[in-house]
Amino acid sequence: MKNAEVITKITTTSGLIDYDKTYKEFSWEAIKKEFSLTNNRVNIAFEAIDKHANNWRKNKIALYWEGADGSLQKYTFSELKRLSDKCANMLKTLGVKKNDRVFIFLPRIPELYISIIAIAKLGAIAGPMFSAFGPDAVRDRLQNSEAKVLITTPELKERVDTILWELPKLERIVLVNNKEDYELEESDVCYKTLIKDASDKFNMECSDLEDPLYILYTSGTTGKPKGITHVHNDMLSHYITTKWVLDLRDDDIYWCTADPGWVTGTVYGLWGPWLNGISIYVFDGRFDAAKWYEIIQTYGITVWYTAPTALRMLMKAGDDVIKKYDLSSLRYICSVGEPLNPEVIRWGLKVYDLPIHDNWWQTETGSILIANYPCLPIKPGSMGKPFPGIKAAIIDNKGNELPVGQQGLLAIKPGWPSMMRKVWGDEKRFKEYFNIDGWYTTGDTAFKDEDGYFWFIGRADDVINTSGHRVGPFEVESALLEHKAVAEAGVIGKPDAERGEIIKAFVVLREGFTPNHELEEELKKFIKHRLAAHAYPREIEFCHNLPKTRSGKIMRRLLKAREMGLPTGDLSTLED
Ligand code: ATP
Ligand code: MG
Repeated sequence: MKNAEVITKITTTSGLIDYDKTYKEFSWEAIKKEFSLTNNRVNIAFEAIDKHANNWRKNKIALYWEGADGSLQKYTFSELKRLSDKCANMLKTLGVKKNDRVFIFLPRIPELYISIIAIAKLGAIAGPMFSAFGPDAVRDRLQNSEAKVLITTPELKERVDTILWELPKLERIVLVNNKEDYELEESDVCYKTLIKDASDKFNMECSDLEDPLYILYTSGTTGKPKGITHVHNDMLSHYITTKWVLDLRDDDIYWCTADPGWVTGTVYGLWGPWLNGISIYVFDGRFDAAKWYEIIQTYGITVWYTAPTALRMLMKAGDDVIKKYDLSSLRYICSVGEPLNPEVIRWGLKVYDLPIHDNWWQTETGSILIANYPCLPIKPGSMGKPFPGIKAAIIDNKGNELPVGQQGLLAIKPGWPSMMRKVWGDEKRFKEYFNIDGWYTTGDTAFKDEDGYFWFIGRADDVINTSGHRVGPFEVESALLEHKAVAEAGVIGKPDAERGEIIKAFVVLREGFTPNHELEEELKKFIKHRLAAHAYPREIEFCHNLPKTRSGKIMRRLLKAREMGLPTGDLSTLED
């Protein structure tokens, strides 16, 4: 069993106060009643934007935006309503209809957010993509989804010019930030020009909560990204998980550091907070520790949702930089995307005086399913407990539930509102998720402890089998991180004639440490001592960085393929 470390620093909340009682009494029907759904208003954009533009929040700032060059903009809920109505009318004149796919290849500029709302208003399907994608990643997505319209900038369009001939279904390209002297091609149109003339009154389309809303491709950590398709009904999950897990309230200034090209940036970067009428902050710049702290100070960020990779980078940047900023506005921090190493939580407690709340979900699940809550103690290294309305279990490969403490497949009982409705163009892959006795299988392995907390072991494919012991890479990575020299680690199983597999660790060192044989031996000894004799890495390789996806996840499959000299597979989502 895991260590018994518990953080009991419980945060005050106006949201979820009694977990057990709420879990027992919860019903999705009751949540649905919080929405004003009528025949002509069954649309997430109505609930997230127009509703607030028509009530007391109309002049509340919905979006604080900061560009990479330091430019600033602010939008109220009523401005977002007006601009998204205009954008919807513009797209309509371009022939966009219900169910058409409109893909967005933009930096994190306001038009990205406005387009996503507008596409929802049309009942069309939005496909946000990371602006750092290369031509292959864009082609795969536009081809698979048969997108009709692409919204991009002249600069980004240049990057995909070479693949446009491979996209016969693409009819139009809308160019944002078009320069006067830029020569438009025949099929291209200028956003600024068209939006100027578009009417600012739009009649929303969408009549059924089951109408599709967006397609997001998975991060590509384990293989080729899948086109996960979600519907308007997701809003029930978005709304209530944002309220109870991120603990957002009306006076918050909330910063989700994720790009909408990753599901976190779409669900909790805009829909979740706006369904709750919350002001969000968006930064269209790169990671920089000092800049990030300056943002928190300047905007008075109160709730911050980020990822383990960012937290590890902040930890690597050291504690001195933190002392230069006033971070007292922060009241709540959450993390998602990868396992959150206990050492990072301990560090967060020390430097921010706040516990970091880890939570687990997937592109396929459409919302947070397992989480740490303000009202419950945190066990560092655990993802927390199932959200009310969610039945999670550890099962064997026949679907039997396994007892407390036993490792197995993490599975969920289907039927929560934001569960994916299809894998675009791949019915077979969709069905595979459900082929164990009525469960939705996640592809992750985990175990549950005696208090009902879930502990992540690894991707089912990443679990290492060494001399008959099953070892999760996360456990070894987290133990390595506890050593003062280690900034980051990626661990894989390397085939070995004698032991089946041996553990190999790729280690990035902190500033001021140099790779050498002594340090290698010291780390091995350190892990042997912390974990177990069988769990120490027999091989350690020092490196400058680890391969990661655009969403910031360590790509262990790539470390392994390189190690074994095998084909590296789909790398379209690899970070630079
Ligand atoms: P692909 O499915 O293409 O391989 P991916 O699984 O990384 O990519 P996402 O949907 O972005 O795509 O990520 C979901 C996965 O991220 C989960 O299945 C899990 O492995 C990991 N994950 C997310 N949050 C956590 C967490 N809090 N702790 C541990 N793992 C997490
Ligand atoms: Mg996945």
